[in-house]
Amino acid sequence: MKPTFRHFRFFALPVAALSLSAIASAAVPEKKAPPIRAQAPTVAEAKAFVDAAEAKLMELAVEASRAGWVQSTYITDDTEVLAAKANERAINAGVEYAKQAVRFDKLKLPDEVARKLLLLKNGLTLAAPSNPKESEEVTRIAAAMEGEYGKGKYCPQKDKCLDLQDISKIMAESRDAAQLLDVWRGWHTISVPMRPKYQRFVELANKGARELGFADTGAMWRSKYDMPPDAFAKEVDRLWEQLKPLYVSLHAYVRWKLREKYGDVVPARGPIPAHLLGNMWAQEWTTVFDLVKPADADPGYDLTKILGAKKTDAKAMVRYGEAFFSSLGFDPLPPTFWERSLFVKPRDREVVCHASAWDIDNENDLRIKMCIEPTAEDFTTVHHELGHNFYQRAYNTKPGLFRDSANDGFHEAVGDTIALSITPEYLVKIGLLDKAPDPSNDIGLLLRRALDKLAFLPFGLLVDQWRWKVFSGEVTPANYNQAWWDLRTKYQGVASSVGRTEKDFDPAAKYHVAANVPYTRYFLAAILQFQFHRALSEAAGCTGPLHRCSIYGNREAGKKLDAMLQMGLSRPWQDALEAISGKREMDATAIRDYFAPLQKWLDEQNKGKPVRW
Ligand SMILES: [Zn+2]
Repeated sequence: MKPTFRHFRFFALPVAALSLSAIASAAVPEKKAPPIRAQAPTVAEAKAFVDAAEAKLMELAVEASRAGWVQSTYITDDTEVLAAKANERAINAGVEYAKQAVRFDKLKLPDEVARKLLLLKNGLTLAAPSNPKESEEVTRIAAAMEGEYGKGKYCPQKDKCLDLQDISKIMAESRDAAQLLDVWRGWHTISVPMRPKYQRFVELANKGARELGFADTGAMWRSKYDMPPDAFAKEVDRLWEQLKPLYVSLHAYVRWKLREKYGDVVPARGPIPAHLLGNMWAQEWTTVFDLVKPADADPGYDLTKILGAKKTDAKAMVRYGEAFFSSLGFDPLPPTFWERSLFVKPRDREVVCHASAWDIDNENDLRIKMCIEPTAEDFTTVHHELGHNFYQRAYNTKPGLFRDSANDGFHEAVGDTIALSITPEYLVKIGLLDKAPDPSNDIGLLLRRALDKLAFLPFGLLVDQWRWKVFSGEVTPANYNQAWWDLRTKYQGVASSVGRTEKDFDPAAKYHVAANVPYTRYFLAAILQFQFHRALSEAAGCTGPLHRCSIYGNREAGKKLDAMLQMGLSRPWQDALEAISGKREMDATAIRDYFAPLQKWLDEQNKGKPVRW
């Protein structure tokens, strides 16, 4: 697993240690390319190859999961080495199979075999060139950039250095514009030395991608989405156009409120300074909620207090989550889940507390790992993590290579969909709340959620817009930084308050660029969760405002959800989307429906004030 930074949404492999399709997705290639056979391959050979690859990858994935679990729940030098070794074996095998799969490209094959070959090939995020020297070089650069990011520090004084965690705390809590700018600028120095490495990395990664038959690395990433790479890029643009009016309203309102707080540092009409939104990348604005909240922001109850008063322990928290799924018609979790999961932070050893959901044997050995506290946030996270577990179990009868979500946005979207059903009405039904407060008081709640989910969308989109252009050559090293800021201004409406030049390399001040982790999945997940929520709420017959709909207790919604989950990765994602929503296209209008009361309120607040940038 590649930890990025605290928020559970931004882990590279957030779901389990390794799914079969995910193990083909990282670096560390074999030294030597496989020998190319002279004769044309046969259908029987292709089938035998796929079966062997599937069996071997399954075996290696289970081994890596076991090692990863022990490492995460018992951190020592030894468990770290053992887990890294197991990962490396799995990843090497994945890369090797991806390269070999190319030799069946021209064959007419049965659908299932063809899909498995495709998954073997397009699961890579980095294809190392077959030249052993270049392969070694690109692997080394990738590891070096990720390492530099991880070690990144800003030292405002000689003996006082801040790591990203320290800086993020300041970004979230400080209200001193000068201090915020100082740490923002400080963090953006860590990526400067990565610039020449990144340039070389792009050259080599593209070479490898071309050897696999892709136009470039960006095209290889986009090829995962069951449509031509260019069509997928257009699809992402279309979704953004649907969202833009809502985002623009939020942006205008937040800009106005920040201007009230910080004065002329925030322009009345232009982009918002990137350092004032409470997050290093201005990708989530929840930490500035106190600056922008409406006067009557109190939702009328405090779940954390309620859970505390009831003395809810960690296991009881998880039981609430399980009961949610039981109410939809899903079987209870297996006994081993309760025996083997980690629910509380142990007193005697180091563990990775960051929440994650696991499926150790890719069948029924489901677990979560989480240091649960009786808070509203953890209550939500439990529901989210179990969403992963129930997805994992639903597709466990599919062949190994199909045991994953329909595309990489789906897994996260399912967990978040379930979390969207944690409404006051649900809390009443399970006895945590006596009476649901009136929805007229929900603006505070909706605004807080918008600062999280809606504010994220343009950033979720632009990271790969930049990389796609870099990999295709449309953006060259001579304008790496300019192109980054052009996109940030265009989509997010933010700008840097201090001059940026081509000496800087601001994109790599974000983990996923430095570590070469594709990002569009987070954008898709953010879109899909609302689409799932709307479809399931309709199935459940909910007629109230969408943000007050919970699918708790509704078997019809449960059936639709299960139909999608069971498909795993066996069919194109459009089929899975159709199973849950009746539609084959992603649709961002569900977000607009969800936030409709907020949009109305924002437009009232924005009357007579400048909108757009
Ligand atoms: Zn998750």
